Amino acid sequence: MSTNVLLKEFERILGKDNVFSEEADRHAYSYDAAVLDPSIPSLVLRPRSEEALGASVRVCNENRLPVTVRGSGTNLSGGTVPGPGGVVILTNALQEIEEINEQDLYAVVQPGVVTAKFASAVEALGLFYPPDPGSQAVSTLGGNVAENAGGLRGLRYGVTRDYVMGLEFFDVNGEKVKTGAKTVKCVSGYNLGGLLVGSEGTLGVFSRITLKLIPMPAAKKAMMAVFPEVSRASETVSAIIADRIVPVTLEFMDNFTIRAVEDFSRAGLPVDAAALLLIEVDGHPAQVEEEAARVEAICKKMGVMKVHVARDAAERDKVWEARRAALSALSRVRPTTVLEDATVPRSKIPAMIRAIGEIGRKYDLQIGTFGHAGDGNLHPTILSDRRDLEEWRKVELAIDDIFEKALELGGTLSGEHGIGTAKSKYLEKETGRPAILYSRRIKAALDPNNILNPGKIIGG
Ligand SMILES: Cc1cc2nc3c(=O)[nH]c(=O)nc-3n(C[C@H](O)[C@H](O)[C@H](O)COP(=O)(O)OP(=O)(O)OC[C@H]3O[C@@H](n4cnc5c(N)ncnc54)[C@H](O)[C@@H]3O)c2cc1C
Repeated sequence: MSTNVLLKEFERILGKDNVFSEEADRHAYSYDAAVLDPSIPSLVLRPRSEEALGASVRVCNENRLPVTVRGSGTNLSGGTVPGPGGVVILTNALQEIEEINEQDLYAVVQPGVVTAKFASAVEALGLFYPPDPGSQAVSTLGGNVAENAGGLRGLRYGVTRDYVMGLEFFDVNGEKVKTGAKTVKCVSGYNLGGLLVGSEGTLGVFSRITLKLIPMPAAKKAMMAVFPEVSRASETVSAIIADRIVPVTLEFMDNFTIRAVEDFSRAGLPVDAAALLLIEVDGHPAQVEEEAARVEAICKKMGVMKVHVARDAAERDKVWEARRAALSALSRVRPTTVLEDATVPRSKIPAMIRAIGEIGRKYDLQIGTFGHAGDGNLHPTILSDRRDLEEWRKVELAIDDIFEKALELGGTLSGEHGIGTAKSKYLEKETGRPAILYSRRIKAALDPNNILNPGKIIGG
């Protein structure tokens, strides 16, 4: 089809107002939260219905146009930066919460629903949707499923994958495929949902998602443990887990991050602390009291300076808001912020934190470290200025060293942020060649023209 005929076809499917071909309208979709060169899409489409979404994918495939689906573009791995000549399909007009079923504990949503909006709607009914990425006020559920997003509550409640009961998605031909069910158990057919969750827009385009809900825990208690040394804080993480306590949240912040966050949020964080652990336990009130007391005792044994227990929900929320602001706070310090996602077995957290400190000193770089330490998932955040080529080279070498160390400790490249293009060159080191070739065969079979988010995860 010629460009003009193609434009007319998209306008017919989507309506003129939902086809953006002017360069000024396309710029905003050329980047995401990863530090990568932008790439302006050739066209941006905004389907307002499921049918229009499927038809858009079909027409792109028929015309060999690469397609990148975009929720809110908050991913940190380049997943929504389109390839050359690529079309971006937005899901932000598909924002309906179609059903919240209080009897069978599930919800059905469109992919563009914002995570926090959904969590609040569910909470208003006394139910709970735990996955809470730090970006939840902006990120979409479609993006969360495509990245298998985690969050602060991952330690006890798992990640997005653990809540996806069913999916409807368009294959590359625009055919709607259904998988999963609204039942607690379902083993009918291949586990296509398992393949699609975390596929970063490379295997299909979600149009409807069925999510598991759970009852809201009756009680919770949050505390802030202030440590005089980083090693004591990191060893406390391992000690809590080794004592068979599974808090909802077990977050770590080093001094650099504490100061940046306090400067940004004025939440009352102790700026002289070498490190903080932010810990929350939940469940039955008696269990909460018992676990909180055990956590406090472990902190004391490990040499904590002070444990401050949040007096009420407002105080608790203030600390969690501050923690969620960590990335924004750090990104004010220097022009370029690279947030990494290396994850190690929990017992290796002290070794990983030590290694990050050494890497920072080796390359003379500012690295703020925070993250979901209870999951073994740290976010070493390197602050630099990409325009300074010498410094940028050091950042790249530091990233290589961080991944190398995480793998050496038996860990993984990405706990939750995905591979995208930012980490695809490292993937083989973790998985080995056969896993890459196997994945490429799946991709070639399902997307023979390689139009669904080409180049992401497995390259090619
Ligand atoms: C400040 C900040 C904090 C963050 N904190 C966390 C955190 O705690 N935990 C965490 O896991 N991540 C975190 N992230 C990363 C990011 O928010 C998540 O990856 C999130 O899931 C992305 O959602 P999104 O709607 O922005 O998706 P996008 O960035 O728009 O897209 C992400 C990927 O999903 C694909 N996609 C989107 N919609 C669909 C669809 N309908 N069908 C198929 N593919 C689709 C895209 O093509 C892309 O590959 C954070 C990011 C920021 C900026």
